Amino acid sequence: MEEKQVKRRMVVLVPVPAQGHVTPMMQLGKALHLKGFSITVVQTQYNRVSSSKDFSDFHFLTIPGSLTESDFKNLGALPFLLKLNQVCEASFKQCLSQLLHEQGDDDIACVVYDEYMYFSQPAAMEFQLPSAVFSTTSATALVCRSVLSKVNAAAFLIDMKDPETQDKVFPGMDPLRYKDLPTSAFGPLESIIKLYNNAVNIQTASAVIINSASCLESSSLARLQRELQVLVYPIGPLHIAASAPSSLLEEDRSCVEWLNKQKSSSVIYISLGSLALTQTKEMLEMAWGLSNSNQPFLWVIRPGSVPGSEWTESLPVEFSKLVLERGYIVKWAPQMEVLRHPAVGGFWSHCGWNSTLESIGEGVPMICRPFTGDQRVNARYLESVWRIGVLLEGELDKGTVESSVKRLTVDEEGADMRKRAIDLKEKLEASVRSGGSSSSSLDDFVNSLKMKNSM
Ligand code: UDP
Repeated sequence: MEEKQVKRRMVVLVPVPAQGHVTPMMQLGKALHLKGFSITVVQTQYNRVSSSKDFSDFHFLTIPGSLTESDFKNLGALPFLLKLNQVCEASFKQCLSQLLHEQGDDDIACVVYDEYMYFSQPAAMEFQLPSAVFSTTSATALVCRSVLSKVNAAAFLIDMKDPETQDKVFPGMDPLRYKDLPTSAFGPLESIIKLYNNAVNIQTASAVIINSASCLESSSLARLQRELQVLVYPIGPLHIAASAPSSLLEEDRSCVEWLNKQKSSSVIYISLGSLALTQTKEMLEMAWGLSNSNQPFLWVIRPGSVPGSEWTESLPVEFSKLVLERGYIVKWAPQMEVLRHPAVGGFWSHCGWNSTLESIGEGVPMICRPFTGDQRVNARYLESVWRIGVLLEGELDKGTVESSVKRLTVDEEGADMRKRAIDLKEKLEASVRSGGSSSSSLDDFVNSLKMKNSM
């Protein structure tokens, strides 16, 4: 007898076109596909994930008239995001209308949009589709954004300019200080507060999904659940639950062969993610500090990440000789594979949330050098809540670089941090296993989608 194919209901995903947002959204797509949904990814013209063999089951759509790479370069990250939300609202409605026409009214189970792609919400409302906000940062950072969205920008700016205030704990956010709050290196405070205001207005969505776990930040999650008017589902870390290779840049795998030749837990891996910038002066202090530490290092230097340089040309010739002896530099690494490698003893990171989860997920302690936004929140938590990171603040000098690398890879302190990191890794793994808190939370979200009209 011919088997009747059950039609999968569709989840529409709307990621922000940036590596740190695309990756967890694609992982969420994989997790929901495993639960029986079909997945449609609606992308902008900039930074599209290719519909490679890894995503052969997914359907991809591009929003017509959305911004391009040259818009990103001309505008900069923050104005780009604000403008993207203006220009996409109408064309996204058209995309959804077309999907509904093709699919039939009952077949879209939910529109899951990145918190910063809030143009999606009016379209979901117009077609009476359930919607969920996906927050790709920590719950604590989301609490901060909610708090910042309500501050008076002018008064807050005065506070932030006062060095004494900067070091004070922000009321109700212990251990975060004023200077740890997620302000932006990509634009003025007024713009970031405007963005948070637009993004945090989530009451019109039916749920908030967060790529975090209760073992990491139970009190922030509880606070979010109290303060937001909608259900909060902590379902992370998604990279452990569902693999979805979605690198927007080409990974240089030759560094894994280099790692294979290094001693266990000896290498410091340095990578500052997809957007952070490093000034030449800081890069040179890093180089000489690494040199003096005598430890092997794998350094990701993203082309364009050092203003005024194409790639590594500002590094002195003597340093290039040292690289040949005990270092390796690449433009982009297969980060998860690197962190999993037994030779890696520590991770020098800008502390983006994905990098933070990936490092904890492999039990690797960190040197924390945040650049912007939520990275400061994560760095402070790594240092003083989870106690698996060395936080570097203020101007960097080679002596501090040298001692931090040694603290992590040579000293007893680093070994203790590693033990705590491994303990957290085990808790994270348990949370995504069947019956664990994140796994159950994902099931609850899925069940809520299955109950027609429940949202
Ligand atoms: N990444 C990578 N190779 C690199 C550097 C980063 O694959 O050389 C990945 C990393 O694994 C993570 C993402 O890029 O998943 C960066 O996200 P994160 O939130 O840490 O930082 P962002 O790029 O958003 O600042």
